Amino acid sequence: MTDPNDDLFAPGSRSIVRCGSCARAADGTSESCACGGLFDVLHPRPAVFPVPTGHNSGVWRFGDLVMPGASTPVSWPEGRTPLVEREAVRSYANVGQLWMKHEGMNPTGSFKDRGMTAAVTDAVRSGATAVACASTGNTSASLGAYASMAGLRALVFVPQGKVALGKLAQATAYGAKTLAVRGDFDAALDLARAASRQLGVYLANSINPWRIEGQKTIAWELLEQLDWNVPEWIALPAGALGNTSAFGKALREARALGRIARVPRLLAVQASGAAPFATAFAERFSRRVTVSAETAATAIRIGNPASWDRGVRAIRETDGVVVAVSDGEILDAKAVIDAAGIGCEPASAASVAGVKALRAQGTIGPDDRVACVLTGHLLKDPDAVVAYHAGGSRLSNPPVEIEPDLRAVARILEAR
Ligand SMILES: *Cc1c(COP(=O)(O)O)cnc(C)c1O
Ligand SMILES: [Zn+2]
Repeated sequence: MTDPNDDLFAPGSRSIVRCGSCARAADGTSESCACGGLFDVLHPRPAVFPVPTGHNSGVWRFGDLVMPGASTPVSWPEGRTPLVEREAVRSYANVGQLWMKHEGMNPTGSFKDRGMTAAVTDAVRSGATAVACASTGNTSASLGAYASMAGLRALVFVPQGKVALGKLAQATAYGAKTLAVRGDFDAALDLARAASRQLGVYLANSINPWRIEGQKTIAWELLEQLDWNVPEWIALPAGALGNTSAFGKALREARALGRIARVPRLLAVQASGAAPFATAFAERFSRRVTVSAETAATAIRIGNPASWDRGVRAIRETDGVVVAVSDGEILDAKAVIDAAGIGCEPASAASVAGVKALRAQGTIGPDDRVACVLTGHLLKDPDAVVAYHAGGSRLSNPPVEIEPDLRAVARILEAR
């Protein structure tokens, strides 16, 4: 390729969907390319980065770079999530400045809604009658809600016994048909992909390029909230690498259109029991790694990340870093975020745990400004909270059983 922007924008006046590996155009019947590559969306190049509109949705206000011309988006609405700072979390991570972009404040409690509004809008306009996904939980909750809004049947494939309670409850309540697959997430995804290919169901996993388009708006909205003053780092948890890919594409487009002069470094954080991408990073991405995944952070319990190539590109183009942290580090960081009155689900706290670890190693400097993405809501995984606080950690805060007696209350106050 001669023009470095060739793979950034569409050559003509319409958005195109084509394979990221061999550039073949999508034919609209398959969820991925015959060569095994994943599809990407390319938009026509606008003269400048479009000024965000006043749309209620934090996704569709960037519509010209998400799905230009979408006249009736299936929107909750979603996005427009808060960017917050808390001294307790900053000092825990020991960095100069720390913001948290709380994507748990989306309508179904995770960032997945930003991708789902775009994917389900595409499903409707392509005439689909049924949609499906494999999910560690949040994608199924989100798909359930958006499919219901659009009047589509939804099938969700989840790993049996490995989905946090809040997420399972949501998918069921929103009306999705939940299929608990006897296997892990990676097995559930293989099955969902086969169902899409052979049964013609529209696949809404993050291999779907429209999911990526919607999720790009997290990065843009975050930078807009910082008045486009680019922080040194953006940290996010990494499972299937859809979100890592979305951040990479968002930053690439914002820089190509002159909205930002440089990109922040991406820090993708994995759980040490589910860290194929961190392992490969340590080997300079010389091979694709898969593992059998195990972690308490169920949203990132993924051993074979589907968006591998896109994820590698995002890390390379941002001079990014991939790190693994233990479940103990994740749950301690979560306890600090929770006790600061913010709250998030376990996987989300990997972002702050990763920042703390890289600061301790010196990779993140003492004055660096860091934005962490909190990907999901505290109430997604109440079992994790109860189990943590029942344990003997320094931060644990278990409920105390008392007699209905004022002296018992007085004793608790004195103990402080
Ligand atoms: C989906 C999800 C992730 C992981 O995102 P990927 O795109 O799979 O890397 C992290 N945290 C939460 C809460 C999620 O729902
Ligand atoms: Zn291809």
